Amino acid sequence: MNCRHCQTPLRHVFLDLGYAPPSNAYLSEDDLRRPEITYPLKLYVCDHCWLVQTQDVVAADALFTSDYADFSSTSSSWLQHAADYSAMISQRLGLNADSLVIEVAANDGYLLRNFVQAGIPCLGIEPTAATATAAKAQGIPILRQFFGTQLARELAAQGRQADLIIGNNVYAHVPDINDFSAGLKAALKPGGTVTLEFPHLLYLITHNLFDTVYHEHFSYLSLHAVQRILQAQDLRLWDVEQLPTQGGSLRVYAIHADDPRPATAAVADLLATEQTQGLLDLATYQAFQPRADRIKNDLLAYLIEQQRAGRRIAAYGAAAKGNTLINYAGIKPDLLPYVCDAAPAKQGKYLPGSYIPIRPPAALRDEPPDEVLILPWNIAEEVKAQLAELAEGGMRFVTAVPALRVH
Ligand SMILES: [Zn+2]
Repeated sequence: MNCRHCQTPLRHVFLDLGYAPPSNAYLSEDDLRRPEITYPLKLYVCDHCWLVQTQDVVAADALFTSDYADFSSTSSSWLQHAADYSAMISQRLGLNADSLVIEVAANDGYLLRNFVQAGIPCLGIEPTAATATAAKAQGIPILRQFFGTQLARELAAQGRQADLIIGNNVYAHVPDINDFSAGLKAALKPGGTVTLEFPHLLYLITHNLFDTVYHEHFSYLSLHAVQRILQAQDLRLWDVEQLPTQGGSLRVYAIHADDPRPATAAVADLLATEQTQGLLDLATYQAFQPRADRIKNDLLAYLIEQQRAGRRIAAYGAAAKGNTLINYAGIKPDLLPYVCDAAPAKQGKYLPGSYIPIRPPAALRDEPPDEVLILPWNIAEEVKAQLAELAEGGMRFVTAVPALRVH
């Protein structure tokens, strides 16, 4: 297999998590009687351009570009993040009624509605039917297509190049990052700006976040890798911000290579930090697997110890992160009898790979366990606050990443 960006043969494994089903393939009762298909979940690092990437699997585009409608507007902190960004960027770029904003992977319109309210013309691109329909219902123009070079050229030919192109949590999730980046170049007006938000590889490495690895997440990006990928399309970095969202993300600002705006000091600073932290050194990447293994083994030892002591355990949060961790550790219902989740669409189903049943949060009150393993560690404080009254009854909370911790 060759690097998806620079075509260099991939010789170095960054992380091997064995085999796993797609992380969003929740199982019904009927599915339990059928065979389940798993795929290798293995990341390579390119020693030429430093792009960390998933191993190619057969028909990845069809398998892992799920039609699972994940409505972004259900999280209040995420809505606030979107509103703050919209106000900041409109002011910084001087957007007005003559501008055009394009958002790739516009979801249910939770972000673009801020531009609609401000009277700034916009266009969302969203292939998933359910979310695209929800966005249209709010009066947001939506194209139900996948974004890439072809669509971008069509938009340019129609005179619909953008002053601002937004890509939030999509850049790391596209199989062909070169084609996507070429599309950004083609759809961007002269003097326009692209902003991309994606999880930062440096944060993943320093915080042992191996559970953020899943098949649909094709690329694990450092600023160095992104700089190269953009440069190959005649784009360059203008600015970068580090964000606490989603457990350590970057917001990268890109412009045409011939744009007169000079790059901010933040770009050089972060590139230097990445170099100091070893992101241009193969040894850094090769040191990661043992750290993931230690977390997995610590969790297994803990679960076994609790079970031997006769203490009952349940988990909270049936999300992708939890599935990666549970499947890599080989945990089944004998060690973790159930997981609670507030999403009604998941209740009554089973986690892929582990077949652990998903129950409503009320199960924690009806049959209180002694320990609750919170799988989405990034919202652990929020979950603890929701379950505060149970903690008063002696229930303990545990998180496994970035290290095993009993709260
Ligand atoms: Zn490469």
